[in-house]
Amino acid sequence: MEITVLGKYGPFAKNGGSTSSYLVKGKSGYIMLDCGAGSVSKMLSMIDINELECLVLSHTHFDHASDILVLSYAIDFLRKDEPLAVYMPNDNSKLFNLVNDLDAFKVIPIREQSDVKYFFNDYKVKFYKMEHPVLTYGITLDEGRQILGYTADTKMCKNAEDIAKYATFLIADGAFLDKDFTENKPHMSVGQVVNLAKKYNVKTLISHVGYNYTDGEIEEEIKEFDNLVEVAKENKTYKV
Ligand SMILES: [Zn+2]
Repeated sequence: MEITVLGKYGPFAKNGGSTSSYLVKGKSGYIMLDCGAGSVSKMLSMIDINELECLVLSHTHFDHASDILVLSYAIDFLRKDEPLAVYMPNDNSKLFNLVNDLDAFKVIPIREQSDVKYFFNDYKVKFYKMEHPVLTYGITLDEGRQILGYTADTKMCKNAEDIAKYATFLIADGAFLDKDFTENKPHMSVGQVVNLAKKYNVKTLISHVGYNYTDGEIEEEIKEFDNLVEVAKENKTYKV
């Protein structure tokens, strides 16, 4: 499995970067995880849109979802077959209802129940409800030997632990340096993500990087564990 970081910032980027989005390559196509600002142009520069099997939106915060509106145009102009499948939480938000009304998409509301079996491409998929101010799902993609985990946006919680425990490669929300973190923030800190990576010995990318941080500041906080934890790099492809 390969994953390319399209966007790693939140809640916006101010340095030419993009907000949360990742492109996962499977045996028969690609899965896009989140669709933040600036991600669609990058995705289209890397693959043919007809190779995209589905899009998963972890939640409807705009830094994870705003490019879905221009994606609908790209689908209208460039995609040959049926609408793109979009898995997203039904939070009854304006964005959910807007996306649900667009012909370019076939929206499938995410359900967490254990009797629901999802398979994307060649991956077994599981969704996890996270702790964030709106309905948010983390995800694991299991191809047998390798398992990608994505926490989406969340406070530290049991499901963040469960994803880290199950995954062999983790993308985690480490939005705050410890100096700026308090328990009431809706995200994890870099230090919390480092602890999660250590506890479950899982290779981890810190993502959802705050717009006001440099990679160097974050690397300073993870330097002891730089064989296990690194800051996500946009446009870089990682082997899971
Ligand atoms: Zn969010």
